[in-house]
Amino acid sequence: MRDGALGEGGMPVSNGDDVARRIEELRAAIRRYDYHYYVLDDPLVDDAEYDRCMRELAELEAARPDLIAPDSPTQRVSGSPSDAFSKVIHREPMLSLANAFSEGEVRDFDRRVRAALPGEEVEYVCELKIDGLAVSLRYEDGRFVQGATRGDGEQGEDITQNLRTIRVLPLGLPEAVTVEVRGEAYMPKKVFLRVNRERDEAGEPVFANPRNAAAGSLRQLDPRVTARRGLSLWVYAAVFGPGTGKAEALRTHEEVLRWLDALGFPVNPLRRVCRNVEEVLAFLAQGAEMRTKLPYEIDGMVVKVNDLGQQARLGATAKSPRWAVAYKFAAEQAETRLLDIEVSVGRTGVVTPTAVFEPVSLAGTTVSRASLHNEDLIRERDIRIGDVVVVEKAGDIIPEVVRVRTDLRTGGERTFAMPGHCPACGSRLVRLEEEVALRCLNPECPAQIQEGIIHFASRDAMNIEGLGEAIVGQLYREGLVHSVADLYELRREDLMPLERMGEKSADNLLQAIERSKQNSLERLLFGLGIRYIGEKASRILAAHFKTMDRLIEASPEQLLEVPDIGEKMAESIRAYFGQDSARRLVERLREHGVNMAYLGSWETRVESRLSGKTVVLTGTLSSMGRKEAREWVRRLGGNPAESVSRRTDVVIAGENPGSKLEKALQLGIEVMDESAFLAILREAGF
Ligand SMILES: [Zn+2]
Repeated sequence: MRDGALGEGGMPVSNGDDVARRIEELRAAIRRYDYHYYVLDDPLVDDAEYDRCMRELAELEAARPDLIAPDSPTQRVSGSPSDAFSKVIHREPMLSLANAFSEGEVRDFDRRVRAALPGEEVEYVCELKIDGLAVSLRYEDGRFVQGATRGDGEQGEDITQNLRTIRVLPLGLPEAVTVEVRGEAYMPKKVFLRVNRERDEAGEPVFANPRNAAAGSLRQLDPRVTARRGLSLWVYAAVFGPGTGKAEALRTHEEVLRWLDALGFPVNPLRRVCRNVEEVLAFLAQGAEMRTKLPYEIDGMVVKVNDLGQQARLGATAKSPRWAVAYKFAAEQAETRLLDIEVSVGRTGVVTPTAVFEPVSLAGTTVSRASLHNEDLIRERDIRIGDVVVVEKAGDIIPEVVRVRTDLRTGGERTFAMPGHCPACGSRLVRLEEEVALRCLNPECPAQIQEGIIHFASRDAMNIEGLGEAIVGQLYREGLVHSVADLYELRREDLMPLERMGEKSADNLLQAIERSKQNSLERLLFGLGIRYIGEKASRILAAHFKTMDRLIEASPEQLLEVPDIGEKMAESIRAYFGQDSARRLVERLREHGVNMAYLGSWETRVESRLSGKTVVLTGTLSSMGRKEAREWVRRLGGNPAESVSRRTDVVIAGENPGSKLEKALQLGIEVMDESAFLAILREAGF
């Protein structure tokens, strides 16, 4: 905080307004960053700059609690764990939609609609049907006040605190409207994979699909757990109270969606207004094609009559509206024979059974293996070796054995039992309390060591290209690498005798290992594979403590002070660095020259001609992308901004610069081209 904002006795005097203004500025900036990051998927600033704004806001609010507002970005995770959810009666029932399973049924729907509206033109809006959890969000005077599940349609559960943690959900709107907004909360495919991987590694039961994961996360009694799950949201409808005037102003469903979009709600852009059923069917076919490429799961498409007046005249049956239909995609399933169940040991010692079946084509790829996760699941689904099984792709991503064709059993099938001993090292497997997984607890287990090295080298950790499973296996068997520190002692003559290793690939691998020494601390931390410390926690810890030594010496209290670091993580870090072997490993890595410091970009700013200046980029640069260019501006000490105003100091114009350049010229702002920008970079030593 700026000292000038406080009066002599530390009491805010007339300048106290500055604090309020700064708080508002920060809130507005963070809301804009959130919108660009989560809704538009086009970040304006990097994580460090975002965190800096959040920290400054939290500090100012801590100093001035009277200025904390419920719609402040710091208040997303608030409220304490509860014992149960209270009930919410929906002001207007949340009806479910009638289903159509074929083109013919969509045509039937169109015929019924037109028969009920004789002589009228009918337009439709087609939208994606997101496979998540339907929610209702109530805003009063522009503030988010209550969120609920659909429940039975009449009555749902109050999950306001959990919904607040969804970053795309606006806590405050730019207009003081009172409205109930409806949408679908969901878990992106990528997050689903990460959550399940973490649960697998922690020995917890995995979620069957992203929808279950989203539902489970929203029904958490502790909003902090929900916040960590990375849920997202698309909204698709608005219900207005009487007398708001909005219902009269907006005449079509498409207009409602645009209005919601303008208010900052996440509204899915993949939709189309269709003038007739042929156009509808063409778009449905496109949706089916898009399905596997989307970052979230859809299970169909929704077709709605566009005109709100026509919707009202069509009305609803007891169960569903007559003006909409949900077109469902056929599930991608296949049958195949289960040949075997293999058992493998992961890096944390968790033993996982994997189904091996006759290769079968599924959603465009050939699959022959699927994780069965744990013994309980095998027992629940009564899966036996030799069975004909039904395989499906959960979330179109990972194959899963969903059920067994017990009617096709011949009697020759064999039940499967998990081994009592580790398949890699032979030590006895144990089942830890409250876990569904079996574990090998032997720290010298070769499978765990190899998996640990593979993890260390993986892209999100130390990113050592070329160090995959096969090479690690060979290096381990040859006795060359037993710990990740050994990687840094490898010589060319060690690598040359390995299978399929040419001179060139040996040199490339050595170079990749050498390069990894320069990584920022968070990569090393993640690479060490400390339990519960994932990629995000590693980044937070590295940014907070700055060096490995400070992290190692951090007390439990100091660890818990770090935002987003919970007790389980803090204990795990203390336990990990409490081991002599871990400290020795860190020492060896340090001796080999592995970097142990955080190299976050916002800290490594340099002085340049752009220092302290507000810089706007426009058009396309030939040598770098926009994101990268913004990053370089920041490193040069400048403040990248998005739009040109009187406060802009410099505009960097690439190819096809557009209106920003015109405005800059009108305002007499300095304009530089790409080569001038590159010259500044060179001068600064980059
Ligand atoms: Zn073992």
